[in-house]
Amino acid sequence: MKILVAEDDPVSGDLLKKLLGIWGYEVILSRDGKQTWKIISEADSPRLILLDLNMPYLDGLEICRRLRNDSYVNRNGYTYIIVLTARGRSEDVIEGLDAGADDYITKPYNPEELRYRIRIGERILNMESNLKDLSAMDSMTGVLSRHKFIQRLEEELNRSFRNNEQLGVIIADIDNFKKVNEQYGHQFGDQVIRDFARCLADNCRPYDFVGRMGAEEFITCVPETTVEEAFSIARRQRNAVNKLIVQPAEGGELAQITASFGIAVSEQGFQVKVDELVQQADALLRKAKEDGRDRIYTTDPDIKEP
Ligand code: GH3
Ligand code: MG
Ligand code: MG
Ligand code: MG
Repeated sequence: MKILVAEDDPVSGDLLKKLLGIWGYEVILSRDGKQTWKIISEADSPRLILLDLNMPYLDGLEICRRLRNDSYVNRNGYTYIIVLTARGRSEDVIEGLDAGADDYITKPYNPEELRYRIRIGERILNMESNLKDLSAMDSMTGVLSRHKFIQRLEEELNRSFRNNEQLGVIIADIDNFKKVNEQYGHQFGDQVIRDFARCLADNCRPYDFVGRMGAEEFITCVPETTVEEAFSIARRQRNAVNKLIVQPAEGGELAQITASFGIAVSEQGFQVKVDELVQQADALLRKAKEDGRDRIYTTDPDIKEP
């Protein structure tokens, strides 16, 4: 992990750098407030700061206040601030914490204590990162949430345009799912949705990714793919779905399902918008439903089941 050490006194700064290095941290040193703020504002700035209060140009308290009030600087996540200062009166500590510091250590400090306080910071930052991962996932099925999927699709689509490649999306929706809910109950319906999502995710390639659009409708992004290739991936998914047998937890009757698929693939050298691509696939899915369900439609009417 990277740690920013903001300390204008070269002897203290170098000592900290050495200590943190021994503990396995990568250290970035800044010697004054201005330089510190510049590093904090960078895209890849360290998430943990050891911050001296008395520094030229911009003092530590001001840096704390700015950091906590600047949404742009906070765009990449939380920054954990440990103030490390000679100002040790109770009023100073309160002022530091009030300015936005997470922890406050007075000099001279005990290195072991500093080490453990840094670990607390690390723990909190890890917790934040785990929470972020959770919110990127659909909690019921474990695939990406719709929001996160669209975000990743946008990145992939830009990348594929830059590399002059094609990219496909496969939208899949369970047929007559309302009947499953009616016949077996909502809880069992949830199990069917989970198994369906797993089927889709297990039957695409390692670098494809799946998101939940809503209810029992899922979307798979298949980068570097022609319509033919996307069709073959969807066919694999469909075969697996048709073989899927979901057993109610209490035993009893088994449910079998079918699903319909719509596929849209971007054209080489043509910058299509995320919404357009998704809408195109969705329209084909609707058409597959209208024409009797349990089928895969693509933009190319010649591509059909063998
Ligand atoms: P179609 O073949 O046209 O897709 O028919 P359908 O019955 O599957 O229709 P639709 O896809 O519109 O229905 C989705 C249903 O899924 C509607 C809603 O009652 C149900 N549903 C939505 N979210 C959940 C969920 O989280 N769990 C369960 N069990 N059911 C859900
Ligand atoms: Mg100082
Ligand atoms: Mg449905
Ligand atoms: Mg649906």
